[in-house]
Amino acid sequence: MAQIFCVANQKGGVGKTTTTVNLAAGLALQGQRVLMVDLDPQGNATMGSGVDKRTLKLSVYDVLLESASMADAITRSDKLIAAKCSYDILGANRELAGAEVEMVELERRERRLKAALAEVNGQYDFVLIDCPPSLSMLTLNGLCCAHGVIVPMQCEYFALEGLTDLVNTIKQVKANLNDDLKIIGLLRVMFDPRITLQQQVSDQLKAHFGDKVFDTVIPRNVRLAEAPSYGLPGVAFDPASKGAQAFVAFAQEMIRRIPTLQ
Ligand code: ATP
Ligand code: MG
Repeated sequence: MAQIFCVANQKGGVGKTTTTVNLAAGLALQGQRVLMVDLDPQGNATMGSGVDKRTLKLSVYDVLLESASMADAITRSDKLIAAKCSYDILGANRELAGAEVEMVELERRERRLKAALAEVNGQYDFVLIDCPPSLSMLTLNGLCCAHGVIVPMQCEYFALEGLTDLVNTIKQVKANLNDDLKIIGLLRVMFDPRITLQQQVSDQLKAHFGDKVFDTVIPRNVRLAEAPSYGLPGVAFDPASKGAQAFVAFAQEMIRRIPTLQ
């Protein structure tokens, strides 16, 4: 059975999409079978995996509204195949913004993605879900089907405040909708060790959350920011860069942690 993880943080621009696509590519490099689900109408994870959201025929939107099967909607990316770190993609585009409203009428609307993933569960080792920057019906669909949540965060003062809301939402979803759900870990991203405040927040995180803080730290690295415009995760775009190497180390840490997650 696949391990299903949401990459979530309701704060915008904290590195969710960068984490999702680079972890997907890093796991693929380790020989893992990975499905990446883009649950954000911005479609950044889709574009950043080399799939053009504007010409996408079927997307996660069609799957949520049950007008397409998973098998028909899942695509592959030639760029990822060429870079030898291919993962399957359930893409998204602006159409997905309408799903929120259209799903209000539907039964079991927060369990739509869970039902869809059940169709393909046996085909993957990992499913990674890139959530939008909100605690919306879309994010709820992700949280309902996941075994756990990976929370990317920048080590800044306000990061800790936002974390309280996310932790409370996860507790509520666990109590009402998905007993499996837990925080797998907090991932420190865009880290700059020269900034004293970042070191202090990092120390506070470790004091508060202990081994829920991943050992791997993702540095601020311009190659990770450049990669999406080439339709590639940084791991594939510049494997020698510090950012890519950190994400490969993170993929290895995730594989190591799996036995302790049950
Ligand atoms: P949103 O909330 O809009 O979905 P997000 O949380 O998915 O945003 P990203 O899109 O991954 O965040 O990252 C925000 C910006 O920061 C992007 O321009 C990305 O390229 C850049 N970025 C992310 N991680 C790093 C890093 N480690 N080093 C340098 N730049 C980074
Ligand atoms: Mg994003």
